[in-house]
Amino acid sequence: MTVLKKAMPTNKCPYCAGQGYFQLRLGGSETCSRCSGSGKK
Ligand SMILES: [Zn+2]
Repeated sequence: MTVLKKAMPTNKCPYCAGQGYFQLRLGGSETCSRCSGSGKK
């Protein structure tokens, strides 16, 4: 089983920095509406 993940920073969602969600200051997180939480572009 090959588990080599290729890092593709250019493929990351610029909105949430590839996280798929936003970190809220008040606590908790909100799903990124741009990538629907996938973190991809
Ligand atoms: Zn996003």
